[in-house]
Amino acid sequence: MKNNFPYTLDNKRYHTYNYFLKKKYHTKVAKVALNADFTCPNRDGSKGVGGCSFCSSMGAGEYAGNVNDDLMKQFNDQKEIMRRKWPHCQFIPYFQAFTNTYAPIETLKQRFEPFLHLEDCVGLAIATRADCITEEIAQYLGTLNKETDIYIELGLQSIHDETSKIINRCEDFETFKKGLSLLRKYGLEVCVHIINGLPYETHEMMLETAIEVGKLDIQAIKIHSLYIMKNTALYLQYMNKPFPLLSRDDYISLVVEQLRHIPSHVVVERLTGDAMIGQLFEPQWSIRKTTILNDIDKLMAKNDIYQGDLV
Ligand code: SF4
Repeated sequence: MKNNFPYTLDNKRYHTYNYFLKKKYHTKVAKVALNADFTCPNRDGSKGVGGCSFCSSMGAGEYAGNVNDDLMKQFNDQKEIMRRKWPHCQFIPYFQAFTNTYAPIETLKQRFEPFLHLEDCVGLAIATRADCITEEIAQYLGTLNKETDIYIELGLQSIHDETSKIINRCEDFETFKKGLSLLRKYGLEVCVHIINGLPYETHEMMLETAIEVGKLDIQAIKIHSLYIMKNTALYLQYMNKPFPLLSRDDYISLVVEQLRHIPSHVVVERLTGDAMIGQLFEPQWSIRKTTILNDIDKLMAKNDIYQGDLV
């Protein structure tokens, strides 16, 4: 069934990242995930120890380059592999692992600035926590944003502070909103990450997270399904005291419902989890990402649903 949703090149009913990139850069653009040897305040004791319960010792950088390699080597090695598939591809170096603004400004300059003016890069993506955005850091990122496109990826996971405590996030929703507003003050584009299926969250709580996030001044969203990796605190917690996991059908219908509350101008960068297969414990259905995306499309078409149609 053909639809009239404007922000797609492939008949989807949500605002695809592919559409955003092609419209803006008129070519194929790929992200290159880097490990810039940062740590995280939720690991080194300044906010917490052990990290968020779902996060492995890789600091959510499972697909990032090898931290023992120089950053430019990490970038060039992955770039060459991607160029074999997409010869004219442009790139966004993605500072993915750990908290990439958790350091003095001088360190940030050393890490970010070599990537500002590479001829095959169209911008930089920087993943971080809201409590690691100070006025000084937001201002600095704002100056970089005048030289290239800077995209900030901000973890939230849930608006519910009781869940944040259960997953040892060591950050509340108020802190998240303060960091977001500082970034917006300096004109930075922000992609928010949320997770469906966190321990003991109900359907209503997850929907509420999407509804509240849809009201924020954000430019993009990543919706993940919770996955339990074997090398995490969450795995130990689950083995000790199992909690209910979302079924595949529940996840798909929830995501479709959530998308209705996300305004159509917000880019949807991800709708699945992305666990390393060898490390994944549960849910095993989360591995088959393409079929999940296809079934989201089918359900939206069947019920004639579009992103943002309840906003
Ligand atoms: S804030 Fe990010 S890097 Fe730090 S423990 Fe949580 S998920 Fe991992």
